[in-house]
Amino acid sequence: YLRLQGLSKRFGATSVFEGIEADIARGEFVTLLGPSGCGKSTLLRAIAGLTAVDAGHVEVDGETITHLPPQKRGIGMVFQHYALFPNMTVFDNVAFGLRMHKVPSAERQQRVDETLSLVELETHAHKHPHQLSGGQRQRVALARSLVLEPRILLMDEPLSALDARIRQHLREQLRNIQQQLGLTTLFVTHDQEEALMMSDRIFLMGKGNILQQGDGEALYTRPASQEVAGFMGAYN
Ligand code: ATP
Ligand code: MG
Repeated sequence: YLRLQGLSKRFGATSVFEGIEADIARGEFVTLLGPSGCGKSTLLRAIAGLTAVDAGHVEVDGETITHLPPQKRGIGMVFQHYALFPNMTVFDNVAFGLRMHKVPSAERQQRVDETLSLVELETHAHKHPHQLSGGQRQRVALARSLVLEPRILLMDEPLSALDARIRQHLREQLRNIQQQLGLTTLFVTHDQEEALMMSDRIFLMGKGNILQQGDGEALYTRPASQEVAGFMGAYN
């Protein structure tokens, strides 16, 4: 599981978020939903250790990881823009993290093959990123995280750059994979419909804090405040 305790972050004099408290159960798919600029990406980066927090703790499966560098946290992260190595094949992009961790080549081969088949890219292993569609590239990015067998998967608007039809397909595929692996997932979007479709629970974020946590139905039909009601209704 993932537990956030009193997590606070400021840039200079400006607070981005303050005193964030949240729990995500093992295998749960939670969506962090909120308007542009409310601090979603910064919160994810803080959990991953890509930016330092000013107060609070991040706990994974009972272990406090706040002091650990990103690569030792057991957290995978997928970004909106794929961040693949353009000069490497799909296989090598996915194998890269295993090389860094000095996983022997036979095991590396097997884990990359398994992961590519999980994201249905086994027939594209020899290609370079520029030979792939946007959806395929994003699946490579996902494979690159999954191959390291993270305890927690964080995704920052991974589908936002894709066209509607591919996005719909990838939502389903992503959710299937996540359930198959029982992976504890925090998924960021500013798309309320996407959040309602995909999540076990939603954390609705306002400016710098979580306004309400609950399943989609609760947020939609029993909003805790005017602000929540306003955001949940904003696209109707
Ligand atoms: P979006 O939906 O547009 O991606 P977001 O919810 O992910 O927005 P963040 O990117 O986390 O929002 O930004 C939250 C706030 O922190 C914004 O006001 C932003 O300008 C500020 N901010 C983010 N990164 C930095 C930084 N490195 N230095 C200073 N301010 C920053
Ligand atoms: Mg963002």
